[in-house]
Amino acid sequence: MFYFDAHCHLQNNRRFEKAKKLGLKYFIVNATNPDNWEEVIQASKVMPEILPCLGVHPWYIDQLPIHWVNILSQYLNKNPNVMIGEIGLDGTKPDLPRQADVFENCLKLAQIYKRPVHIHGHQAWTLIADILACYPQTVCLLHHFNAKDQQIHRFLKFENVYFSLMAVRKSLELLPPERVLVESDSPDKSRRLENVIEVGKKCRGGWKQLDCNFLDFFSYFPDGLPDAPKGLFRW
Ligand SMILES: [Zn+2]
Repeated sequence: MFYFDAHCHLQNNRRFEKAKKLGLKYFIVNATNPDNWEEVIQASKVMPEILPCLGVHPWYIDQLPIHWVNILSQYLNKNPNVMIGEIGLDGTKPDLPRQADVFENCLKLAQIYKRPVHIHGHQAWTLIADILACYPQTVCLLHHFNAKDQQIHRFLKFENVYFSLMAVRKSLELLPPERVLVESDSPDKSRRLENVIEVGKKCRGGWKQLDCNFLDFFSYFPDGLPDAPKGLFRW
């Protein structure tokens, strides 16, 4: 058994080392804009437990370099294990049409390079579901998932969607246990990586189930994750 963090961001190495000592084996680290893409790639080269994602967070759609799609495309081409994130929509931030344009550009790259995407959907889950309906093949992780029942039912129809939780709430009991992952979103709001350990214990099936889900999510890696039991992979 191992622990993982399905969604966090770059932070001081000492924090990753501390979390590793507590049993965390993998950290999915999301970049938020082109300014930190290279940093996340480099961090993953130094620490193989860091699984890197490059994307444009909906809060950072201003001041993107003109050729950002090409630059991201080159990174994906050069690094077969790099995923796409953090991307998505935020209903509390301005300019949803521009957010959606950036989001769709990322989804198109995900389709071309066959990479999973890590999605932020704060107060925008309905619109996210509308857009994802056009990308049925793409494996998606819905980060800090907290949608309402009606929206949950809609996402349950998608075959390749995983729900990443920061806390376990009653309304989330609708989620199939084999599609749940857990995350800290650290260091946002001073959250700590090791917070996931307790959240995972409260999920149905506990860490045993979560570990299977995590390996399943990563089945797109040509050689699987290190130490992954053979035969678990669906794709
Ligand atoms: Zn985040």
